[in-house]
Amino acid sequence: MSMINTRLPNWKGPGRVIWNPNLSSGFSVHSAYEKLGETILPGEDGFPCKSVWRHVIPSKICVFMWLIYHGRILTIDNLKRKGFQLANRCMLCKEGEETINHLFIFCSFSSEVWRILRTFIPIARGAERDDDMKDRIRRWAHSKPNSPPQWCSFAFLHAFCWNIWYERNSRTFKDSETTIRVVAYRIGRVITHWLSAARVVDRRVAESWLYEMKTRLTPPRSGQHGNQDQQLLDDQSLIHRPSR
Ligand SMILES: [Zn+2]
Repeated sequence: MSMINTRLPNWKGPGRVIWNPNLSSGFSVHSAYEKLGETILPGEDGFPCKSVWRHVIPSKICVFMWLIYHGRILTIDNLKRKGFQLANRCMLCKEGEETINHLFIFCSFSSEVWRILRTFIPIARGAERDDDMKDRIRRWAHSKPNSPPQWCSFAFLHAFCWNIWYERNSRTFKDSETTIRVVAYRIGRVITHWLSAARVVDRRVAESWLYEMKTRLTPPRSGQHGNQDQQLLDDQSLIHRPSR
């Protein structure tokens, strides 16, 4: 509404309806959508929608990032605020209390996954010293635009958060644990899948990253975890369109 109310009438002459974003051809849904996108892009508290909403990444994962940004995922501290009586302990490190910032920044399990991934995927870069996920998402949105495409770093962040949350849920609800290296490998595989499918990273480069990860992180090749890994990758894949 603040966008609509930016111009006040001057009371001179007859009134008429105008659409400022597109004076020549008037209102259109497309121009309204574009204008809304501008207004909620980088602002003091603005959600970096152009970096987070990417067609090559499944929308459920983009929505998940939006929920993290607004502090809305159901971590134990959030459940306690809603009145649930629960003991708060992080299922990944079994040390700290589970909060969004702990899970994705401070947790020793997640930090090690992050560190391992950074050694394999040079495209992943951004602010490292954040103590708040909202800040991290915002800073990654503003870091080093264009070369390589800005959203590539965000693919890293998307895959990292989604798979850390998946591992947390497996431990919480299925009593099933995997190692730091396997979680890192899963994330790396998803990232390379997205980037090569969108053709923003040369397929051979993506394959070399994947080969390095396969060799050094020794992922399971068969059995329960192997099947689970394939399901996980399928779950995070789309029918991709090339990036423009
Ligand atoms: Zn932890």
